[in-house]
Amino acid sequence: MSTPDIIPSMIERIRQDLVGLKMPRALEALDHIVRRLEHGEISALEAIDVLLSEELTLRENSRIKTALRMGRLATIKTLAGFDFSFQPSLDRDRIHTLAQLGFIARSEVVHFLGPPGTGKSHLATALGVEAVKAGRSVYFCTLADLLAQLARAEREGRLQERIHFFCRPGLLIVDEIGYLPVVPGGGNLFFQLVNARYERGAMILTSNRGFAEWGEVFGDPVVATALLDRLLHHAIVVQIEGSSYRLRQHAELMPEHVRSKAVIAAPLQPPPRRRGRPPKNGYAAQVA
Ligand code: ADP
Ligand code: MG
Repeated sequence: MSTPDIIPSMIERIRQDLVGLKMPRALEALDHIVRRLEHGEISALEAIDVLLSEELTLRENSRIKTALRMGRLATIKTLAGFDFSFQPSLDRDRIHTLAQLGFIARSEVVHFLGPPGTGKSHLATALGVEAVKAGRSVYFCTLADLLAQLARAEREGRLQERIHFFCRPGLLIVDEIGYLPVVPGGGNLFFQLVNARYERGAMILTSNRGFAEWGEVFGDPVVATALLDRLLHHAIVVQIEGSSYRLRQHAELMPEHVRSKAVIAAPLQPPPRRRGRPPKNGYAAQVA
């Protein structure tokens, strides 16, 4: 039997095997890889390598996409898209260390504190995305959303089940503590969840209010103290003392005479670069 007869039948068998193994991307890439092999552009070993890595990349991408959707990480923010020069109070190395995710393994709590627009949600989301990529389960919600879900579950007699649900992800991100008044009983529900996750799962919390104001935020100093007792025990506190990135964007769109009247604080030090244009995935790009 001559080689040209063997190869088509072998390729056909490989094709059927790839269908049987449910490897759609490898199947799609097969002809191209065989052509490169025939032209001597790649070795047999490289052909196997390319075929498998094509399939693996597809699977990995769809795993990440599904995990981000399930974890409610809808607005994708990345560390690469964060302009550290705009927030000189923030230690870039510290954030990059957090991105190595040791805090998840240690079930610690990361607090991002600072005024509105300083990148708290951006950084929390970016760390969530890193965690998803590393194969960790993540769930993102605002405090208001979390409390609404817990309150509904309590009314329906399913509170423990819901608390169990929020205990499953290795990383729970609770955004926007302090923006909206907490509904009566909300502090208590949050405490039950925090207590259930305590030393068992990591959390990232963001807040525009200092810890001293939590009594007011939760409408109950006793609950606030009990919450902080757990949430500050194994904690990393990142305080951002800068101006709003959002207002910076608007300031640039405003005419000079309006801008001079607007109450927009300048960053602590002038950023060394990028005075003119926002980074590619910054706020302006999203609203455009
Ligand atoms: P906060 O949660 O502190 O109120 P956000 O993280 O929501 O602020 O930031 C507001 C917007 O500005 C978001 O679109 C975010 O991506 C963007 N942003 C904030 N800080 C930076 C930064 N230093 N570099 C790039 N984008 C930023
Ligand atoms: Mg926010």
